[in-house]
Amino acid sequence: MNIHEYQSKEILKKFSVPTLKGKVISHADEAINAAQEIGGKIWVVKAQIHAGGRGKGGGVKIAKSLEEVKTLAEKILGMNLVTHQTGPEGKQVHKVLIEQGCQIKKEYYVAMLLDRTVGRLILMASSEGGVDIEEVAAHSPEKIHRVVLDPVVGLMPFQARQLAYAIGLKDKAAQNAVKVFLGLAKAYEQTDCSIAEINPLVETVEGEVLALDAKLNFDSNSLYRQTQIVELRDFTEEDPVEIQASKYDLAFIKLEGNIGCLVNGAGLAMATMDIIKLHGGSPANFLDVGGGANKEKVTAAFKLILQDPNVKGILVNIFGGIMKCDIIAEGVIAATKELGLKVPLVVRLQGTNVELGKKLLLESGLNITPADDLTLAAKSIVSAVQSSK
Ligand code: ADP
Ligand code: MG
Repeated sequence: MNIHEYQSKEILKKFSVPTLKGKVISHADEAINAAQEIGGKIWVVKAQIHAGGRGKGGGVKIAKSLEEVKTLAEKILGMNLVTHQTGPEGKQVHKVLIEQGCQIKKEYYVAMLLDRTVGRLILMASSEGGVDIEEVAAHSPEKIHRVVLDPVVGLMPFQARQLAYAIGLKDKAAQNAVKVFLGLAKAYEQTDCSIAEINPLVETVEGEVLALDAKLNFDSNSLYRQTQIVELRDFTEEDPVEIQASKYDLAFIKLEGNIGCLVNGAGLAMATMDIIKLHGGSPANFLDVGGGANKEKVTAAFKLILQDPNVKGILVNIFGGIMKCDIIAEGVIAATKELGLKVPLVVRLQGTNVELGKKLLLESGLNITPADDLTLAAKSIVSAVQSSK
């Protein structure tokens, strides 16, 4: 799960990571009040969307007067911001953060994340801040420094110091960076992040070290115990299909192809997508309804597939273990009755209550092609989709 920059900063602040004074607004009339409350002579108006690269896209602007704060807020609020992370369609800006402007001496990069190659959390930092870390990794990988965290003790102060010196910080600034790193690591651990990134981390001319931008991502498997984090969710930023999927606890990922897949179990879902590809088709989604799905969940899953205008055919592939085949059949029937079925549907059922499931489908009067074997099922849906073109 993603949150906005201003929310990430509020969390980091609780873990003693310094940030600048700021106020988030959704109407330009609030801009002047917000800027006055913050004080100072320079402000930065920042679009709040769930994507980076806002600066380059025109979503981060400096204002030198109260009037300018208002003009910029007017301009940015409601704009469709396109950055390299939003895709060409861009994202609508609903909120802006008015923030104190600061005098930057140098920008750095720091992030905490899971390094799957070592199977541990790492803290990673670079002297090259404010730019995409992928660029730094591609062109000057030697400028990225890492420390590997011990799972028992977490980030040790000596490691934080090592990293601060490695990226070229000295004296008071290095000490300040150590506090930031330790705070970041604590925030990561306690809020169940999957990645926590500060880019840029800045050293000000006064030797202060602060988070000028922040991006926290959370592990969705931990949200059940992070109720305060869940409250920060901004539905306007999310794909409506994925919101619906998460409501029913379905693992759904939209893909480019035109064959909708409804499968139970992530491994079987992967295999199903592979076999569709092998026979010349292309999956429209990954969808794992899970082991213990009920009729409502299957109905919701099937609706998600039917709603996608790209879908030209559907393959249901279920192995009934804990999941019973008749439940799947009931869900498929309920969803198609509600939404209609205009595309070919191939159903392969195996396992618990398979005969009952097949009988229900047969008696439903729906135009369903049954298949007993996965290869046959894949071939059958691919040729049905191709001949419907
Ligand atoms: P993004 O990563 O989405 O482009 P950032 O928050 O990192 O957005 O802002 C982009 C750049 O704007 C920063 O690298 C920094 O140089 C500048 N900037 C952002 N916030 C401030 C601020 N409060 N004061 C001064 N400069 C800022
Ligand atoms: Mg940034």
